[in-house]
Amino acid sequence: MRALVLDGQNISLDERHPEASPPPGEALIRPRRMGVCATDLELCQGYMNMTGTLGHEFVGEVMAVGRAKDKAWIGKRVVGSINCVCGQCDMCQRGLSEHCRDRTVLGILNRDGCFADLFTLPVQNLLEVPDSVDDDHAVFVEPLAAAYQVLRQLTVEGRPFVTVLGDGRLGLLCAQVLTELNATVRLVGKHPEKLELCEKWGVKNRLLNDVGLRGDQDIVVDCTGRADGLTTAMQMVRPKGTIVLKTTVSGNHPIGPVDLSPLVINEIQVIGSRCGPFPEALDALAAQKVDVLSLISRRMKLTDGVAALQTAKQPGVLKVLLEP
Ligand SMILES: [Zn+2]
Ligand SMILES: [Zn+2]
Repeated sequence: MRALVLDGQNISLDERHPEASPPPGEALIRPRRMGVCATDLELCQGYMNMTGTLGHEFVGEVMAVGRAKDKAWIGKRVVGSINCVCGQCDMCQRGLSEHCRDRTVLGILNRDGCFADLFTLPVQNLLEVPDSVDDDHAVFVEPLAAAYQVLRQLTVEGRPFVTVLGDGRLGLLCAQVLTELNATVRLVGKHPEKLELCEKWGVKNRLLNDVGLRGDQDIVVDCTGRADGLTTAMQMVRPKGTIVLKTTVSGNHPIGPVDLSPLVINEIQVIGSRCGPFPEALDALAAQKVDVLSLISRRMKLTDGVAALQTAKQPGVLKVLLEP
């Protein structure tokens, strides 16, 4: 089968990759759509020292299962959460299985990803996609869930001022989702053509250069994907305010030391935020609460996967979708 494989330094399409086969408890999935995300680009830069097949955003069809009792899944159209957990460790026992100490993560940590003709994932990770959510929407469940995680982690009092920093794929999803809060939400970015999408959605937006860094925001959500996003966020947030970090960057981005003293002086709360609730994201798509179609910049074939990763890096490009 074909698979888009990272060997530690280079990414290439392996046309004779060993066929995936599901162990007991797992499903064999044929992806129908796959999404390229900033994390994939970071992995190519050395983030997590990942080797193997890339890809963690997908909607696909279950082709086979590893044990007979799961056979009801065969033929179902599914999305799937990417953290595969042990169920035994102290984190799993405490109900914090997304932080399982022995976890593997689809296309990110010790588990081959979905940029392939076939891949496997535990059936307990799967969620059936209702007919009302088509493939173009369903492929956004994973990044949209990551946006809903911010909503889940914030406790809001009064009517706070919230800035989403960064107008990339995740920032545009977070800005839409955070309008569900009782808050004044604005997106701050560097790209007028991306901020225009906010106009369409009725979300306040400003160019970073036009915004004074006045330390007046109650909450700043860093979706810049840049190592210096935290510095900007520290300048925007008010004393005793909250910064939510969605950015992960590989250690290969030298920016020099970040001065963290503003966090201490201004007693800022910093919240790290990673993966989120798939059911909420799927419900939001079914209810058409979030516009994801406007984020699709390009559709490419798995065969052109290497070029697709290059395309996703280009300025102005939002979501690149891969099809088999
Ligand atoms: Zn992603
Ligand atoms: Zn565990």
